[in-house]
Amino acid sequence: MKLMYCAHCQDIVRLFPEKRSCKCGKSWGHYLEDKSTTVQTWPSLSIGIANPDFVQAERAFASAPKTFSPEITMRCWINPVSEPDVTFVQGVQAEESPAAAEQTGPPQ
Ligand SMILES: [Zn+2]
Repeated sequence: MKLMYCAHCQDIVRLFPEKRSCKCGKSWGHYLEDKSTTVQTWPSLSIGIANPDFVQAERAFASAPKTFSPEITMRCWINPVSEPDVTFVQGVQAEESPAAAEQTGPPQ
Protein backbone atom coordinates (compact mmCIF):
# COMPACT_ATOMS: atom_id res chain seq x y z
CA MET A 1 0.00 0.00 0.00
CA LYS A 2 1.07 3.57 -0.58
CA LEU A 3 1.04 6.45 1.86
CA MET A 4 1.68 10.14 1.25
CA TYR A 5 3.97 12.15 3.54
CA CYS A 6 3.34 15.91 3.47
CA ALA A 7 6.56 17.93 3.43
CA HIS A 8 4.70 20.92 4.91
CA CYS A 9 2.93 19.45 7.97
CA GLN A 10 4.60 16.00 8.24
CA ASP A 11 1.22 14.25 8.22
CA ILE A 12 1.01 10.78 6.67
CA VAL A 13 -2.14 9.76 4.81
CA ARG A 14 -3.03 6.38 3.32
CA LEU A 15 -4.07 6.78 -0.30
CA PHE A 16 -7.37 5.50 -1.68
CA PRO A 17 -9.17 5.92 -5.03
CA GLU A 18 -10.83 8.99 -3.56
CA LYS A 19 -8.61 12.07 -3.30
CA ARG A 20 -7.39 12.60 0.28
CA SER A 21 -5.54 15.53 1.82
CA CYS A 22 -3.09 15.89 4.67
CA LYS A 23 -3.83 17.79 7.87
CA CYS A 24 -2.67 21.19 6.50
CA GLY A 25 -4.40 20.67 3.14
CA LYS A 26 -1.37 21.53 0.98
CA SER A 27 -0.83 17.94 -0.18
CA TRP A 28 -3.28 15.46 -1.65
CA GLY A 29 -3.19 12.20 -3.50
CA HIS A 30 -5.19 9.21 -4.71
CA TYR A 31 -4.99 5.89 -6.57
CA LEU A 32 -5.95 5.67 -10.22
CA GLU A 33 -8.42 3.08 -11.53
CA ASP A 34 -5.64 0.51 -12.05
CA LYS A 35 -5.44 0.32 -8.22
CA SER A 36 -1.65 0.53 -8.50
CA THR A 37 -0.66 3.94 -9.82
CA THR A 38 -0.91 6.90 -7.47
CA VAL A 39 -1.08 10.60 -8.23
CA GLN A 40 -0.02 13.03 -5.53
CA THR A 41 1.17 16.57 -5.19
CA TRP A 42 4.80 17.62 -5.26
CA PRO A 43 6.63 18.05 -2.86
CA SER A 44 5.12 15.18 -0.90
CA LEU A 45 6.79 11.80 -0.48
CA SER A 46 5.37 8.50 -1.66
CA ILE A 47 5.86 5.85 1.02
CA GLY A 48 5.39 2.18 0.20
CA ILE A 49 4.63 -0.56 2.73
CA ALA A 50 5.18 -4.17 1.64
CA ASN A 51 1.65 -5.61 1.67
CA PRO A 52 2.68 -9.19 2.57
CA ASP A 53 4.71 -7.82 5.48
CA PHE A 54 1.73 -5.84 6.74
CA VAL A 55 -0.55 -8.90 6.58
CA GLN A 56 2.01 -10.98 8.44
CA ALA A 57 2.53 -8.30 11.08
CA GLU A 58 -1.20 -7.86 11.60
CA ARG A 59 -1.65 -11.62 12.07
CA ALA A 60 1.31 -11.81 14.46
CA PHE A 61 -0.10 -8.92 16.47
CA ALA A 62 -3.55 -10.50 16.59
CA SER A 63 -2.13 -13.78 17.88
CA ALA A 64 0.07 -12.14 20.53
CA PRO A 65 -0.85 -8.48 21.09
CA LYS A 66 1.53 -8.06 24.03
CA THR A 67 4.61 -9.53 22.33
CA PHE A 68 7.30 -7.71 20.38
CA SER A 69 8.84 -10.02 17.79
CA PRO A 70 10.38 -9.87 14.30
CA GLU A 71 6.99 -10.98 12.93
CA ILE A 72 5.42 -7.60 13.72
CA THR A 73 7.99 -5.66 11.70
CA MET A 74 7.52 -4.73 8.05
CA ARG A 75 9.45 -3.26 5.16
CA CYS A 76 8.62 0.25 4.03
CA TRP A 77 10.42 2.71 1.76
CA ILE A 78 10.24 6.05 0.02
CA ASN A 79 9.42 5.58 -3.66
CA PRO A 80 11.94 7.33 -5.95
CA VAL A 81 10.48 9.80 -8.44
CA SER A 82 11.53 7.40 -11.20
CA GLU A 83 8.98 4.84 -9.94
CA PRO A 84 6.55 4.39 -12.89
CA ASP A 85 3.48 3.86 -10.69
CA VAL A 86 3.91 7.11 -8.74
CA THR A 87 3.01 10.38 -10.47
CA PHE A 88 3.57 13.82 -8.99
CA VAL A 89 1.61 16.94 -9.88
CA GLN A 90 1.71 20.50 -8.59
CA GLY A 91 -0.99 21.03 -5.97
CA VAL A 92 -2.95 24.11 -7.03
CA GLN A 93 -2.08 24.04 -10.73
CA ALA A 94 -3.11 20.40 -10.98
CA GLU A 95 -6.72 21.38 -10.33
CA GLU A 96 -6.63 23.60 -13.41
CA SER A 97 -4.32 21.79 -15.80
CA PRO A 98 -2.87 18.40 -14.79
CA ALA A 99 -0.81 18.05 -17.98
CA ALA A 100 0.92 21.40 -17.48
CA ALA A 101 1.44 20.69 -13.79
CA GLU A 102 3.24 17.41 -14.45
CA GLN A 103 5.84 19.27 -16.50
CA THR A 104 6.80 21.28 -13.42
CA GLY A 105 6.80 18.29 -11.06
CA PRO A 106 9.74 16.63 -9.34
CA PRO A 107 13.30 16.60 -10.64
CA GLN A 108 13.81 13.98 -13.36
ZN1 LIG B 1 0.26 18.98 4.96
